[in-house]
Amino acid sequence: MQEIVVEPQPFSVLGLPVHLLDDYGKWLRPRLHQGIGTHIVTLNAEMTMLCEHHHTLANIIRQAELVIPDGAGIVLYLLLRGQKIRRCPGIELAEKLLQSSRQLGASWSVFFYGGAQGVAQRAAEVWQQRVPAINIAGTQHGYICPDEEEQLQQTLVKLQPRLILVGLGVPRQELWIAQHRSLCPQSTWMGIGGSFDVWAGVKTRAPAWLADNHLEWLYRLYQEPWRWRRMLALPKFAGKVLVNRLTQ
Ligand code: UDP
Repeated sequence: MQEIVVEPQPFSVLGLPVHLLDDYGKWLRPRLHQGIGTHIVTLNAEMTMLCEHHHTLANIIRQAELVIPDGAGIVLYLLLRGQKIRRCPGIELAEKLLQSSRQLGASWSVFFYGGAQGVAQRAAEVWQQRVPAINIAGTQHGYICPDEEEQLQQTLVKLQPRLILVGLGVPRQELWIAQHRSLCPQSTWMGIGGSFDVWAGVKTRAPAWLADNHLEWLYRLYQEPWRWRRMLALPKFAGKVLVNRLTQ
């Protein structure tokens, strides 16, 4: 008997969609299996604020097949709007998809693109150990010249990996995916920020108690203090949410 797949309903967060589903992995697995091209965006407050001026990014997010609530601010907004939703960190969804290689078979391959030299390669080795059935078709670091970029595009066309994880940071990764997804129309493409750094052991994630209390951003600030300017978007987002709540 075929499983009934519930289509995700988009909910607007300050004009950007967020799809509300209990289990994103369950929705994505048949798409991966059948080769239905998908772009997954992991939305957070910082990105939402960036979209106020970056209309290309905003349009890419509006066209993505799946936008997940990656940031605590997005989840708080949705909760205030009466939506029962849990945060879905992009790194955890990417991990679920990588683990599903166990069921999807060896013909199903993965490509890692992004991070400093050696990081994606190290992350691939870690995943190969964690899930021996995984088929990692290739890796590429994220600091390449135009010639290497050309080479990368040819490699992707040849390999047609089913899952392409892109860790170039926001908004570079979203723009890159939108520009290149036609090279592998049956693939699932996902921007994953610094996830390769975490898998390769270069960075660590915030302890669960901080994440549970919506304070993962504080840990990032401690680990990467130079992010403080980017993080000014967070109080700005909170202000917008408040105004939006009072005016509607
Ligand atoms: N990065 C890259 N190429 C670039 C710029 C950045 O591969 O030209 C990588 C960087 O090494 C890091 C990731 O992109 O692994 C950005 O991580 P971050 O956590 O800052 O992502 P964001 O918070 O923007 O999603």
